[in-house]
Amino acid sequence: MDGFESNEGVILIAATNRPDVLDPALLRPGRFDRRVVVSPPDVRGREAILKVHTRKTPIAQDVNLSVIARGTPGFSGADLENLVNEAALLAARTDKKYLEMFDFEQAKDKVLMGAERKSMVLTEQEKRTTAYHEAGHTLVGKFLPGTDPIHKVTIIPRGMALGVTQTLPNEDRVNLSKERAENNISFLMGGRAAEELVLNQKTTGAGNDIERATDLARKMVCEWGMSDILGPLSFGQKEEAIFLGREIAQHRDYSEQTAQTIDREIRDIVEKNYKCAKDILSSKLNLLHDVALALLEYETLDGAEVERIIQGLKIERKSTVSNTPPDNLKGNLTDSVKVESGAVGTSGGTPAPVPA
Ligand code: ZN
Repeated sequence: MDGFESNEGVILIAATNRPDVLDPALLRPGRFDRRVVVSPPDVRGREAILKVHTRKTPIAQDVNLSVIARGTPGFSGADLENLVNEAALLAARTDKKYLEMFDFEQAKDKVLMGAERKSMVLTEQEKRTTAYHEAGHTLVGKFLPGTDPIHKVTIIPRGMALGVTQTLPNEDRVNLSKERAENNISFLMGGRAAEELVLNQKTTGAGNDIERATDLARKMVCEWGMSDILGPLSFGQKEEAIFLGREIAQHRDYSEQTAQTIDREIRDIVEKNYKCAKDILSSKLNLLHDVALALLEYETLDGAEVERIIQGLKIERKSTVSNTPPDNLKGNLTDSVKVESGAVGTSGGTPAPVPA
């Protein structure tokens, strides 16, 4: 920044996604001395961004942008644009004249969880295991107070997963209470608990759940001071290696004895909530069978359908292609589909990283 006189009226703006590693010399008064934090959009921001990107897209009456915004926490503006584009591609592929909620749901699932792997052949036994596993997550989530409502549960393989239970937060959450963290662990353990309870087996399907549950329990104890025995202390100083990603090195700043207590506390938290999940499921065994059987029959259930099963009602399936013309139909759908670099429908993974 040398060479600029202070009266030249030149304003220099720079952006980074690693503010933690900036040289303090850069941040001295007279240099980059104003900092503006640009966080991902909140739910209202996302709704407004979706409105912008669907301005020229013909969308059906049933499309509720606020529901889409609610189900996409953590999405950036570019991710949302990508979502609309994916939805338009899906709709165009089935020769629809306008985008329906169904297309947005499919696009969201594709962006969040990877493309469906319908060609993947699973044995009946594997399907049954997945159905009970996901039914376990669903029911624990349903009957545990303070967890996010169930949005969708599916046993169609996607990306790396054989099945997915998706919850939909009502609002962007920036703070996590101890109770909610524990309920989250129970929810994660619901899959394994159901498998053990009904099929009397342990499978690798719960591997990722267990990893996430253990990680959550470790954070509760070591970072968030939520252990009654260890108290509100932070254990393990993280050294973030510059430019090499995070948590490269973690050096211990506690005694061997404390290490043992930490291990025991983590184990206790996970096991306590595993038991909680198992208790819920054994008291709702009939519902567990009902949800699993419905999953085997329909492969995907939405939140309302899960609710119907819990109330002992039958599932009503209506056709996914509606015939009512939308009143806001304008333009031709294929005009608004943006195909970049010939990548039609090949992006089956996570949202592309967006440079800040
Ligand atoms: Zn699971």
